[in-house]
Amino acid sequence: MSEKSYMVPNPPTPNKAVTFNPDVCIGCNRCVEVCPTDVMMPNPEKKKQPIVVYPEECWYCGGCVEECPRPGAITMLHPTQQRISMNWKRKDTGELYRLGMNNPPPPNLRPPSGE
Ligand code: SF4
Ligand code: SF4
Repeated sequence: MSEKSYMVPNPPTPNKAVTFNPDVCIGCNRCVEVCPTDVMMPNPEKKKQPIVVYPEECWYCGGCVEECPRPGAITMLHPTQQRISMNWKRKDTGELYRLGMNNPPPPNLRPPSGE
């Protein structure tokens, strides 16, 4: 076949789905193989981190992170709107509170996943 075909990244949002640490990733592509929606493709350069091609297809299942043999090589980034806390903070005292609730549960102070 003489015609070439190309895969073109399609990032429609600021979200990246996953990010790599190039100092830790060994380019084994296990994350690429396990991904149920083909978010990533192998890097044409051997032993380099995969390329995120279709971040909007990510299910945030975490399979890629689970499968990675190198802890810290890949990090899942939850969508921006899911990282927003529903807590409000008083400017003067720094107190965290929630709107419209009597006896609200304590605020969730855990940092967002992936950070
Ligand atoms: S979180 Fe799941 S869907 Fe998203 S890139 Fe990883 S394996 Fe693929
Ligand atoms: S992120 Fe992990 S599983 Fe994916 S290529 Fe790098 S080392 Fe392999």
